[in-house]
Amino acid sequence: MSVPQTHWPIRLVILLCVSGAALAGAGCTGGDVAANGNANQQDDECLADGSFQLAPSRQAVAFVDPACFSDLLKRSEIEPTLLLQASVEQFITRFAGQFPNDADFVLFTLDAHRAQLRFNAVGGFNIAIKVPEAGLGPFVSVSSFAALPNLRSYIYLARKDSLVLGPSLHELAHGWGVRFLAPDVLAQQVTDSDSHWGFTSAGGQLGGWLPGTLVDLGNGQFELSSGEVAFGGRSFNSVPYSPIELYLMGLADPSEVDPIQVAINPAPLSLFQFTADEIVELTIDDIVAANGRRVPSAEDSQRHFKLTLVVLTDHELNATEWKFYQDSMEFFSADAVVDVNDFFPATEYAGQPIRKFITQSEQEASVGSLMNFYRAARRRATIEFIQLNSGS
Ligand SMILES: [Zn+2]
Repeated sequence: MSVPQTHWPIRLVILLCVSGAALAGAGCTGGDVAANGNANQQDDECLADGSFQLAPSRQAVAFVDPACFSDLLKRSEIEPTLLLQASVEQFITRFAGQFPNDADFVLFTLDAHRAQLRFNAVGGFNIAIKVPEAGLGPFVSVSSFAALPNLRSYIYLARKDSLVLGPSLHELAHGWGVRFLAPDVLAQQVTDSDSHWGFTSAGGQLGGWLPGTLVDLGNGQFELSSGEVAFGGRSFNSVPYSPIELYLMGLADPSEVDPIQVAINPAPLSLFQFTADEIVELTIDDIVAANGRRVPSAEDSQRHFKLTLVVLTDHELNATEWKFYQDSMEFFSADAVVDVNDFFPATEYAGQPIRKFITQSEQEASVGSLMNFYRAARRRATIEFIQLNSGS
């Protein structure tokens, strides 16, 4: 079935995170993708057909579309063009028509485990629909999808374990940044890293080294005493949001944000070494002066966000498969600092213990350090997966 062409009025903001082999899972590469109604008509098939299956808990739906699932699996990398067409707006309209809701974020997750994918990566992207706050830099977004007026972004996660493992925290953070195009030295890093923190000490989910870890070796060489530069952000849910990220999200006052180191003309030598002409420091006052104050402030900002999960799959999920997603949602949305192991007892899933399934090969993400949204947000905000009820 073909989808009528829709001309979206303006350029969409795509914030993409795909960790590639070159970065060994340490960060992300990606970029903004310009979209308009003329692009990639051949991709419009995805989401056009298919049927909904409501989760037993009613907190998620599966979208059973074998052709779309097969097409997504065939890709050699994450290609946001597949899900940024008119088909998404049409899908959202259909979804909201059947399950009226007031979600802030719709999370699509591909019902695939790592071995099924043709790329060795975790990844995803965030497409901003509505960014109502001021002071975050020049977000350009669609004003809204009429069917879900509260929708801020839709997010794509490439693997079934991405909600727990990451980059779910990373992609949610893209709902607020990084779009700063001033001051110039910061803008250079944000631009070069495709809307991440680049070579700075921002030290959060969207990249940057951890504050206090930069060592000047002399002769323009620098090394981190621990951790990595994470130029394009972090893929795993093992690092909490940094103070500047909490500021973007409306969860920290400017006074809580320490000065940020920014490398001038950096060039990587390894994941934790680089050369640069010099290191300068920006204060939050510099950033606020250049971009305006965040409005609303942390005192008045939204502190609770509503999510809904759409599992893109080729079959109706059975009780065991749903339990995996349910456990994932309960871990990620818990209003408490929790241990991921408590959510995944040693039961079988697809012939493997779930615990092993969650942890396989992901060296960076030691299970003990995986954190949910509440912990990453330093207990300052909560999320929920809303209960969907059929409106028809
Ligand atoms: Zn990213």
